[in-house]
Amino acid sequence: MTTLDVTWARDWVKASAAVVAEHRVDLIDLDRAIGDGDHGENLDRGFTAVLRKLQEAEPETIADVFTLVAKTLMSTVGGAAGPLYGTAYLRAAKAADGQSLDAAGVADMLDAALGGIVARGKAEVGDKTMVDAWSPAVAAAKEVATSGGSAGAALAAAADAAAQGALDTEPLVARKGRASYLGQRSANHRDPGAQSTALLLRAAADVAAGGRR
Ligand SMILES: [Mg+2]
Repeated sequence: MTTLDVTWARDWVKASAAVVAEHRVDLIDLDRAIGDGDHGENLDRGFTAVLRKLQEAEPETIADVFTLVAKTLMSTVGGAAGPLYGTAYLRAAKAADGQSLDAAGVADMLDAALGGIVARGKAEVGDKTMVDAWSPAVAAAKEVATSGGSAGAALAAAADAAAQGALDTEPLVARKGRASYLGQRSANHRDPGAQSTALLLRAAADVAAGGRR
């Protein structure tokens, strides 16, 4: 797909709810190892609520879809993840203020989301947080946009980079969030927020490629 429209955005939300439900236990286990174990449960509850609201509201622009996601996650997801993802989707909504997204639009949207997460959580690359998945994802999407690739290709590259970024959090010692209280003991575990980021971006790419509805 060359550009992405509101149908993609709605289908991404549905796929996000499905993928979070599928990986709920994995995310709980990751968060149990270095956090408080609520990440899978919280995200699952959040996206279940998002799905319900999406059916009620039937938003007609990409920005409206993301705003709905942002507000719902902020009000239903506890811990750090709700405000972080909420801010990400809110910034993404502002960036996606048009009818469709090309590769540059995808890169801008992801960059805006990352900006929101950094503003909210104050984490840097290497702190073992979701920033370690978002940051390489943004860089990869920008590269595709610069080289004239499609919106779908930008999302696919972002998803690959986020997956690698999540994997790369495993050896890191956490410097932010609850995991940082563990010091060295936080090493050898994957960051749950980086993992959920990778899952959500993979869902976005799969939907753009027509592979997941
Ligand atoms: Mg937690």
